[in-house]
Amino acid sequence: MRDRWQQQFADAPDCLIGPKRPRTVLHVLDIEIGGDEFVTMAGPCSVETERQLLVTAERVRQAGAQILRGGAFKPRSSPYSFQGLGIEGLRMLAHAREATGLAIVTEVVSEADVPLVAEYADILQIGSRNMENYALLEAAAQSRRPILLKRGMVATVGDLLRSAQCILSHGNPKVMLCERGIRGFETATRNTLDAGAIVLLKQVSCLPVIVDPSHAAGYRDLVSGYARVGVAAGADGMIVEVHPEPEQAWSDGGQSLTLEQFDALMTDLEPWMALAGRRSYVRAALVEAGR
Ligand code: PEP
Ligand code: MN
Repeated sequence: MRDRWQQQFADAPDCLIGPKRPRTVLHVLDIEIGGDEFVTMAGPCSVETERQLLVTAERVRQAGAQILRGGAFKPRSSPYSFQGLGIEGLRMLAHAREATGLAIVTEVVSEADVPLVAEYADILQIGSRNMENYALLEAAAQSRRPILLKRGMVATVGDLLRSAQCILSHGNPKVMLCERGIRGFETATRNTLDAGAIVLLKQVSCLPVIVDPSHAAGYRDLVSGYARVGVAAGADGMIVEVHPEPEQAWSDGGQSLTLEQFDALMTDLEPWMALAGRRSYVRAALVEAGR
């Protein structure tokens, strides 16, 4: 790696690729993140009902997702918005995991909740709004769970790497970096997908990089295109919001794909994954589903 990046990111040393620091491959159940395969995490923004979650989980599994997302603790920008089902939502996630075999990624918003959420989650999500919540980063690190660290909406790549370093420094090397769009001057989309950051992170960092096209775009008709950009930029996986009835969703309905749109996304991405040199299980999943 060039000296320039070594210097620029000198305070995130354990995040950087080096002769003694090859790429990190994380193991979650039987899934490898950061290896040859492009990994898909999909599911609703919020866990709402048992049925909503199970229907979504089964469908995204059949379409090739390996990990189910769903928020039980939601960090909402408005105090009047739905804040999540809490432990009831975690129990629904556990049920969906049992029913489908999918691994679970779910957000933790407070350090006090880390032990509880870590009991249910295969991967702990630290959301954008908490990327610089150092007490939470430390508590999450101590859980020893793999962590999906989302880039803050006004965080630079250096800020993201420093937060990742904070987790690594507390003894947990199992970190994934997530590009989910940043605040810019553009208001037509919800955020601005920083595809360049994915390219840069893949060049400088040993940590897997995940793209979140849903929160970057904000509108479901853009999600597929943003996902394609993420694959082309070199992302190791994606996290996508999917809902059986997006218009009825309790959060982020506007950017949630329908079940059919998610099927289409997975099929559409296949040649792009191949071009990017990625294996995917989509084809196998489609065959299994008889389509
Ligand atoms: C989410 O994943 O639903 C979420 C709140 O994401 P972000 O932290 O990127 O806004
Ligand atoms: Mn969301």
